[in-house]
Amino acid sequence: MSRTAEYIREVDQWSAHNYGPLPVVLERGEGVWVWDVDGRKYLDMLAAYSAVNQGHRHPRIIEALERQAGRLTLTSRAFHNDRMGPFLRRLCEATGFDRALPMNTGAEAVETALKAARKWGYEVKGVPADQAEIIVCENNFHGRTTTIVGFSSEHQYRQGFGPFAPGFITIPYGDTDALERAIGPDTVGFLVEPIQGEGGIVVPPDGYMKTVQEICRANRVLVLNDEIQTGLGRTGKMFCGDWDGERGDILIVGKALGGGVFPVSGILANDDVMDVFHPGDHGSTFGGNPLGAAVGEASLAVIVDEGLPDRSLELGTWLQDRLRDIESPHVAEVRGRGLMIGVEIKKESGPARPFCNALMERGILCNDTHHQVIRIAPPLVISRDELEVALDVITEVVGVGSPVGAA
Ligand SMILES: *Cc1c(COP(=O)(O)O)cnc(C)c1O
Repeated sequence: MSRTAEYIREVDQWSAHNYGPLPVVLERGEGVWVWDVDGRKYLDMLAAYSAVNQGHRHPRIIEALERQAGRLTLTSRAFHNDRMGPFLRRLCEATGFDRALPMNTGAEAVETALKAARKWGYEVKGVPADQAEIIVCENNFHGRTTTIVGFSSEHQYRQGFGPFAPGFITIPYGDTDALERAIGPDTVGFLVEPIQGEGGIVVPPDGYMKTVQEICRANRVLVLNDEIQTGLGRTGKMFCGDWDGERGDILIVGKALGGGVFPVSGILANDDVMDVFHPGDHGSTFGGNPLGAAVGEASLAVIVDEGLPDRSLELGTWLQDRLRDIESPHVAEVRGRGLMIGVEIKKESGPARPFCNALMERGILCNDTHHQVIRIAPPLVISRDELEVALDVITEVVGVGSPVGAA
C-alpha cells in the first residue's frame, strides 16, 4: 500500500468525517510548491482558501514565528504583552481604521463584528433592546458557528444544527434595490462579502460596494465588510472594497493575516463603533497573543513590502485572459478579480470535482466550490512561469479532448 493510502486509511478511522478532501497527503511546502508523502510535487493553486497568500513557510514569517517562540507565546489578555500593540498599530495603519480587535479564526471575527454592530445599534443608534436586525446575502459564507450557519442559505450548513439566532434578514447578493427595501428602523448592519468566495467566486456588479456604502450611510446602517478571503491582496487590491473605494464601517480580516502559519483574525473600526466595547464585554483567550501578533505583523509586512496586491492584479488579469482563451466544451464562464478566479463548469459536463481530481493527478492542486466551480487562487508570490505550468495543465484538463466530463 502506498503511504498516501495508509495515511488516508488512518484518518478515515480516527477523524470525524466533516470533510471530503482530495486524496493527496502533503508533508512539505515551500513557496507555491507542496510535496506529498510519496514524493510527488504539486503546484498549490488553492493556497488554503487564501490563507497562504504569502506562500508556504515564507522565510520572514517563519523567522518572526521562531524568534517569538523563543521569547513568549501566550499571556492571555489578563496581562499586556509587548507584541500586540505594534501589530495592531501596523494593522490600523495598513487599513486606515482607528482601532483593531484581535481574534483567531475568521468565524470569531465575524461574530465579533455582529456583536459590535448590535451594541452600536443599541447604544449609539438607539434601537430598542433586542430588536436589532442585520441584513445578510443569499449564497453567503461567513463561517461555521451556530449563529453564522443560522443565516446561511446553504441547506447542508444548517441542516440538523437549529434552533438558530433570530435577527437576520436575507436579501439577494449584488442587489442594492433589495438592500434599500430591506432596511428598517431597527437595522444596524449589512454583512457582505465584496466577492462571494465559497459561494462560487461570485463577482457583484461594478460599483456595488460603493452603492452599498452610500445606502447604509444614508440610513445609519453599518457595513460589515467580510474580507477574510478577499482581503490582503487576493483580488489585486489591498482590499477588494478598494475596487469601489470603500472598506466598510467594520472591516473583517483573517486567513492571510496569519501568513498560513498561525490563526490570526480580527475586526477594524473607527472609535464611534469600537468604543462600544468595555472591559469584560468580549474576549478570547488566544486573541492578541504574542505569537500570533508577531506572525500577523510579519505577514502584513510581506504583503506590503513585496507588493503582492499589484502582483495579483497583473498576474490575475493575465491568467484570466488566458483561461478565457481556452477552447473548451466544458467551461461556462471564467470570472474573478486578480488571482481570485472561478472557472465554472457547464452542468452538462458534470460537477467540477472530477476536473479537480484530474488536475491533482497532473500536479495541480485546486478545489471545487459550489459544485460547478474550479477555484484558482494560488499564493500571490507565484511567478508568471509557474502560472504557465498551471495553465498548460488546466488547458489539457478542461480543453478540447479533455479526459474528464460527459462531453
Ligand atoms: C473562510 C471564511 C470565513 C471563516 O473563516 P474561518 O477561519 O474558517 O472561521 C468567513 N468569511 C469568509 C468570507 C471566509 O472566506
